[in-house]
Amino acid sequence: MAEKKTSACVIGGGPAGLSTAYTLSQNDIDTVVLEMGTQVGGISRTIERNGFRFDLGGHRFFTKDPEVEDLFREVLGDEIIWVDRSSKIYYHNKYFDYPLKPANALLGMGLGTTARCIFDYGLVKARGLYRKPEIVSLEDWVTNEFGGELFRQFFKDYTEKVWGIDCDRIDAEWAAQRIKGLSLRVAIKDALLPSKNGKVKTLIDKFMYPRLGIGRISENLAERVEGMDNEVRMGQKAVAVNHEGGRVTSVEVADGKGGYSLEVGELVSSMPLTGLVKVMRPQAPDDVLEAADSLRYRDLITVNLIVDKPQITDLTWIYIHDPAITLGRIHEPKNWSPAMAPEGKSSLVTEYFCFEGGEVWEMDDQALIDLTIEDLDQRLHFLRKQEVMDAFVVRIPKAYPMYELGYERRLKKVLDYVNGFTNLQIIGRYGTYKYNNMDHSMKTGMLAARNIMGESHDISQVNLDKEYHEEKAAE
Ligand SMILES: Cc1cc2nc3c(=O)[nH]c(=O)nc-3n(C[C@H](O)[C@H](O)[C@H](O)COP(=O)(O)OP(=O)(O)OC[C@H]3O[C@@H](n4cnc5c(N)ncnc54)[C@H](O)[C@@H]3O)c2cc1C
Repeated sequence: MAEKKTSACVIGGGPAGLSTAYTLSQNDIDTVVLEMGTQVGGISRTIERNGFRFDLGGHRFFTKDPEVEDLFREVLGDEIIWVDRSSKIYYHNKYFDYPLKPANALLGMGLGTTARCIFDYGLVKARGLYRKPEIVSLEDWVTNEFGGELFRQFFKDYTEKVWGIDCDRIDAEWAAQRIKGLSLRVAIKDALLPSKNGKVKTLIDKFMYPRLGIGRISENLAERVEGMDNEVRMGQKAVAVNHEGGRVTSVEVADGKGGYSLEVGELVSSMPLTGLVKVMRPQAPDDVLEAADSLRYRDLITVNLIVDKPQITDLTWIYIHDPAITLGRIHEPKNWSPAMAPEGKSSLVTEYFCFEGGEVWEMDDQALIDLTIEDLDQRLHFLRKQEVMDAFVVRIPKAYPMYELGYERRLKKVLDYVNGFTNLQIIGRYGTYKYNNMDHSMKTGMLAARNIMGESHDISQVNLDKEYHEEKAAE
């Protein structure tokens, strides 16, 4: 059944899609959001269970873009709280402060390893004076910045746990984007000397967060969109995008009731880029489909525990580098906001980085819960098995676009194809296949809306700000 033409259709009710819909709604443009899930927020949604609230991995809000910050403040108002940041790395059966503090790192690693770290660091810096090394992979990049021993001690295991491939197969671009600001010199200086720039220090030590969880950003945006007489349609999946003469004409929607076709004037997509090219009708050329197939994502599982204890840790994030423990990161929602758990009880979110269809992904829920409790009890000593009152598992496909060596060439092929449509824009994180944080995702959404309103913005320029990553890097 065909439906009346809508001016703008947005695929995906995450922060990106809802920022587009909100901006369009404010400017009286007829907009429909199609969200295949039962809840808005996408990867940054908050799940409620018996009075406990869980993000899909801890999400802190950080931005250097005044417009995005204004939007965040506008939609959340007095829901915003400031959270003190305190993280640790677990490695070699010890906890290290993160960002690294020299005294703590030195004591933890022992004198021999510390001496090797300093020696290797001096060596790469001295070598760099007369020969510029070729930097291709993440391993090259980190070794060149920090020296081989620090790479092995602090980067290799965790990075390989997150990505599931060797560091010499990850593109240096990822490291350059994400850990650019982390230099040993800066880490040591920051630990020993008070920062000259108080603002930067504050942004690293504290962050903004919605009192009831990160999903409140999207929930508030969706409420406002609907309040301005536009629609956020839940449980509606875009399954085909029809086009003609370089323009998208309509979207086929599966709604669990036989589906319908929605004619669109403008289409903004935050669905996975690789999935979008596969549903284009007529079909995309074979080489584009092949390029899309070769772009992989890393997937995520969270195992969420409800615990009969008022508090489990005093930390915001705990990074588990130890390869003997399968889970990669932990956070205790109550340490982000007391409203995330009822009085006298607490909870933990543990993250498993994995591949959809792989060994961890395929484990059944109870086996994952048992493994998590055993590691938390027997190895990490955070809780005792009998303190766990309830547990559940969430599987999150496509959490991280993978910057594997050579991905840029293949991505360009896909982007060139998609950019050939005059009324189609791609936004967000997996929507653009870019390692975007929430603020970048929101910004891409806002810019797409403004392009529809007649302005001219290059969305691909979002998230190229060097300074942003220098401040955000210590995460
Ligand atoms: C573990 C983890 C921790 C993170 N921590 C932080 C952090 O601390 N700070 C930060 O700023 N960012 C963080 N991020 C990044 C943040 O989650 C993303 O930037 C943001 O959620 C992306 O928003 P989006 O709208 O592009 O995509 P999503 O949030 O993925 O939303 C896309 C939506 O599209 C829907 N959809 C997909 N396909 C279709 C279809 N065919 N039809 C209809 N709907 C569809 C999905 O159901 C989803 O709701 C983190 C990400 C992860 C995975």
